[in-house]
Amino acid sequence: MSALPEPIVSLTAALAKLPGVGPRSAERIALHLVQAESAQVRQLAEAMLGARERIRFCEICGSLTEKSPCAICEDSRRDASLVCVVEKAVDILSIEKSGTYRGKFHVLGGKISPLEGVEPEDLRIGELEKRLGTEPVREVIIALGTDVEGDATSHYLAKRLARAGLKISRIGFGLPAGSGLEFADELTLDRALEGRREMTNS
Ligand SMILES: [Zn+2]
Repeated sequence: MSALPEPIVSLTAALAKLPGVGPRSAERIALHLVQAESAQVRQLAEAMLGARERIRFCEICGSLTEKSPCAICEDSRRDASLVCVVEKAVDILSIEKSGTYRGKFHVLGGKISPLEGVEPEDLRIGELEKRLGTEPVREVIIALGTDVEGDATSHYLAKRLARAGLKISRIGFGLPAGSGLEFADELTLDRALEGRREMTNS
């Protein structure tokens, strides 16, 4: 039985559902919040709600944006012949931080994983095919993690997207084995992009 009043217990339980927040941190944050200035807590709650209501997915690339199409899709100075395919919207931030990539992006929204019930049709692959038909794309750079699902998804994409005049490459060089982009530092990502290799269908 918990010695804490019920409202603190349920706040702790809600906070513990957030990514990266374990039960102990959740309890610490809850205890902080119930003792903080009421106005400060209200501000935090409003910031959370406000962000949730104002952020949407870009209708073209699938990134998180306030206005769709997003700033990257709308930026005519970016190289529209290059599309970098990533798993999650936050991966765009990682690649943007590395600072050298000047092409466009496409967020898949996951990786193919039969074990977790993620099939190709659950991902934004159809949207990507549509873009290949309407945008002047000459190279698709697959920047998925180096784990089993990342490998499987990359090979599936290379097969499905194959068409005349389109190069399909994959980054990988130097990326930590079995992990996603979020674990790579900027220099590593930069080199991985630089050292991307063309995928061939055999
Ligand atoms: Zn976009």
